[in-house]
Amino acid sequence: RLVVVEGVDGSGKSTLAAALHRRLTGAGVPSVLTFEPTTGPFGRRLRESFTSPGRLPPGEELALFLADRREHVAQVIAPALAAGKVVVCDRYYFSTMAYQGARGLDPDEIRRTNEAFAPVPDLVLLLVLPVAEALRRIREKRGEAPNNFEAQADLERVAAAFDRLEAPFLHRLDARQPAEVLLEAAWARVRPLVPAAG
Ligand code: C5P
Repeated sequence: RLVVVEGVDGSGKSTLAAALHRRLTGAGVPSVLTFEPTTGPFGRRLRESFTSPGRLPPGEELALFLADRREHVAQVIAPALAAGKVVVCDRYYFSTMAYQGARGLDPDEIRRTNEAFAPVPDLVLLLVLPVAEALRRIREKRGEAPNNFEAQADLERVAAAFDRLEAPFLHRLDARQPAEVLLEAAWARVRPLVPAAG
């Protein structure tokens, strides 16, 4: 089973993904927690580009995300799924549709390109949070100024692109809820997919 957590920066994806992974492990279900961009060569280049002034052109950025994901699928996601593990992934190709879609690329085309090589998830949990609140959390929790991706106008465009995503396996969760309440809502979606979780 492949479970993906998506949302804008500051929406609490990593916290929720880690909590789901802990709960699966606690229930005796073999599971793998992973994230994108990865720590591989393409992922590192992407992260470097986020913290340096000036963005890569959208097409180049997309090519790096695709290369990073191909590697991630081949080295981590596909082997874990083949071994019967639950994979919890913090960001996946819905982020690419939203972030690079917000930069003018066609989200439907991004989706088709990805689905030609990347496993379609069983569940996408999309954390929904007003951008102003997401930025407030980033400043407070990380104690740092938002990077250039996290500028309000950019993030509003990304949030609007996430708003337009539709898929039968995509569920929206209100990320303003307390973490424990959010985890229960997420778990209620994950549990039916994993009978071994009881
Ligand atoms: O999830 P995480 O905070 O590690 O993401 C790293 C950065 O990558 C974020 O600043 C996010 O805005 C950016 N990103 C992006 N396009 C994507 C996925 C992430 O610009 N497709």
